[in-house]
Amino acid sequence: MTDQLVDGFGRVHRDLRISVTDRCNFRCQYCMPAEGMQWMPRAELLRFEEIERVARILVEHFGVNAIRLTGGEPTVRAHLPVLIEKLAALGTDLALTTNGTNLARMADDLVAAGLKRINISLDSLRADRFEELTRRDDLAAVLAGVDAALTAGLSPVKINAVMMRGVNDDELLDFARYGRERGVTVRFIEFMPLDADGDWTNEQVVTLDEIVARIGGEFPLEPVQRRSAPASDFRYTDGGGRIGVVASVTQAFCQTCDRIRLTADGQFRNCLFAVDEFDVRALLRDGSSDGAIAELLQHAVAAKWEGHQINQVQFIRPKRSMSQIGG
Ligand code: SAM
Ligand code: SF4
Repeated sequence: MTDQLVDGFGRVHRDLRISVTDRCNFRCQYCMPAEGMQWMPRAELLRFEEIERVARILVEHFGVNAIRLTGGEPTVRAHLPVLIEKLAALGTDLALTTNGTNLARMADDLVAAGLKRINISLDSLRADRFEELTRRDDLAAVLAGVDAALTAGLSPVKINAVMMRGVNDDELLDFARYGRERGVTVRFIEFMPLDADGDWTNEQVVTLDEIVARIGGEFPLEPVQRRSAPASDFRYTDGGGRIGVVASVTQAFCQTCDRIRLTADGQFRNCLFAVDEFDVRALLRDGSSDGAIAELLQHAVAAKWEGHQINQVQFIRPKRSMSQIGG
């Protein structure tokens, strides 16, 4: 390692999110419009060798030590295990975020390729509501995917549930019970203004305090010492496991954020909510050296702002929605 990715506020960046595709077999209400999205042309997507090159530069030059693959839906990208194998060879903490539909048939291959941990998104445990939210009748497939991930030995298996007031917050306790029974950590995510339709309002956000109070009223909880992770973790005092809450809206973790992102079409973002992007793909395809790419990445991180301003009037929504950035 020769250097670190430090921004103007002293934050060192070591956690890389890579979106491997903008395509998805779901059209979740809070992420994609009902009519679907215009997919990026295939030629614009980074090839596996290009993704690997950027990841290698980040690991070797800057000590990046965590890589999360996301999308769109990463499991719809053909030959995903081939990419996992390339990235696993870099020796970082490698994880995948998925809607879980393809796991029943893919979990073993992903593990064989070197995947260790997984986050599965699941916003309702009720079949009718699940279908309404995702516009796919696939709850059974996702639940089977969770079980397949556990059986394949992925650890930890975490469930990500975006909580929306009046939509699914009546399932908080059902999720808590499901996590306790299955031995998986459920991470409740505050709804963020990255929905494709631009319908987000602050009132729809179910806050960390409310989530902890409502679950803790039934199953007492105590906080777990926070590390640099974005989730605030709580453990059940009866030993029944943990929950996490990603409070991006009410308790922004910008001060300790160490995340950087690469979109499926090769644009580097220094924040989920960034309005500017840095064109790594252009350098990958014009014969630039690793050094020139490293310089662009360093410059991009140096330009990072202090934090997003979701709760303030000057907040500007990024042009891309969550499925195009990679959650
Ligand atoms: N398709 C995969 C999945 O659903 O897990 C990976 C991509 S998805 C964009 C990543 C995560 O972003 C999911 O957990 C999803 O629930 C979350 N997400 C999408 N839109 C969101 C929003 N407006 N607010 C909060 N989380 C959101
Ligand atoms: Fe697809 Fe994930 Fe967005 Fe749902 S949240 S539409 S599964 S990318």
